[in-house]
Amino acid sequence: MNAAEPGRADQVDVVVLGAGAAGFMAAIEAGKRGKSVVLLDHAETIGEKIRISGGGRCNFTNVNAGPKNFVSENPKFCVSALARYKPRDFLAMVEKHKIEWYEKTLGQLFCRNSANDIIEMLLDELAASGGLLVTGADVRDIDKAEDFQVFTTRGNWRAPRLIVATGGPSIPKIGASGFAYELAARFGVPVVRPRPALTPFLFSEEMKARSGKLAGVSTEVTAQAPGSPVFREAGLFTHRGLSGPALLQASSYWRQGQPLTVDFAPGRDLAAELIAAKSTNPRREIATALGAGLPQRLAGFLAEEVSAWGTLADASHAELRRVAAAIHALDMRPVGLEGWRIAEVAAGGVDVRALDSQSMEVRAVPGLHFIGECLDVTGWLGGYNFQWAWASGAAAGRAM
Ligand SMILES: Cc1cc2nc3c(=O)[nH]c(=O)nc-3n(C[C@H](O)[C@H](O)[C@H](O)COP(=O)(O)OP(=O)(O)OC[C@H]3O[C@@H](n4cnc5c(N)ncnc54)[C@H](O)[C@@H]3O)c2cc1C
Repeated sequence: MNAAEPGRADQVDVVVLGAGAAGFMAAIEAGKRGKSVVLLDHAETIGEKIRISGGGRCNFTNVNAGPKNFVSENPKFCVSALARYKPRDFLAMVEKHKIEWYEKTLGQLFCRNSANDIIEMLLDELAASGGLLVTGADVRDIDKAEDFQVFTTRGNWRAPRLIVATGGPSIPKIGASGFAYELAARFGVPVVRPRPALTPFLFSEEMKARSGKLAGVSTEVTAQAPGSPVFREAGLFTHRGLSGPALLQASSYWRQGQPLTVDFAPGRDLAAELIAAKSTNPRREIATALGAGLPQRLAGFLAEEVSAWGTLADASHAELRRVAAAIHALDMRPVGLEGWRIAEVAAGGVDVRALDSQSMEVRAVPGLHFIGECLDVTGWLGGYNFQWAWASGAAAGRAM
């Protein structure tokens, strides 16, 4: 933000900054209440995160969304907004626009055709509510006297209410920025240190050398970071570390230096299987026996990792139980996470303890609201982040 431009500023009731999921919803809801609204974005093409989401089909909500699916230093904050704007409310809008959708798995709802359907729907709803969308508007300065004054390269606006919906810094090449954090700091609003989330784990050079041949191998696992739930979904070895839905979920809870526990045989009694295999095939290598329920390359790697050498006959039952226990709870010792370049979301963000949970308004700065991903509310993988964007956007828009 540079020096303010003098000159004319149009008076409106509400300025919404950031035309993503949350900003659209807030602008639409405020417009429906008869407020004059301008929705500003610095990008020329809006809705880029919606467009690329869900592999181009936008996993726009999750029917099971509830507070337990969100990570925050204040986990109760999201309760009110989520209760007042439910997945079925968004689905009603989708159906009103005759957008075809389907449930993929675990309550995840996707567009049948394209994520562009959601963007078109939001544009139509905004137009119907009377809101004005201005793209390519780089913010030069924001002031607060009696009203907020927003100075941009595409015009200036004055409003008693400013809703900040500029998201988080993940995928900067499509216009993502940490602008909300800077603005929060400027108004004295604390920020919980932002960190990349829903992002793959990285291995050390040594581990990469040992696991390199596994790149592309995928299997069902459970993954758990300290303090996180146990996530049971696919795990995927990459050239750089570990990815796949279970790992992405755990990444939102993981902190540098912590262990990461992966069960490579979830729901199985591996000790019993190995002991049974010993009685039927005693000469079989332990590594080969492990391959009964796992990709063979992975079985070989795991046998090395847990020091399971030799044949089943060579190993006592106690030793086989040790091997099984180690594979059910292997610490993968990641050295870090992939950064903002590919993280799906930001964890941390504007500290919600400074906000009113009904209206998303900063208690100490009347008229200033933060919504969506820029807040310290981070959803699991599976449509939860959009549900938070819709719900927090609706909460702020309805409070205008
Ligand atoms: C690859 C990928 C796939 C995803 N898939 C899913 C999915 O399927 N389901 C799901 O629930 N979530 C998904 N997410 C997460 C989801 O996209 C975000 O949580 C959600 O878009 C956040 O909405 P938002 O409105 O808060 O922010 P955003 O959608 O990021 O919108 C912020 C807007 O603010 C604008 N902006 C930024 N800085 C400025 C500035 N200084 N001035 C003006 N405008 C600014 C940006 O251009 C952008 O238009 C995915 C994320 C990624 C990266």
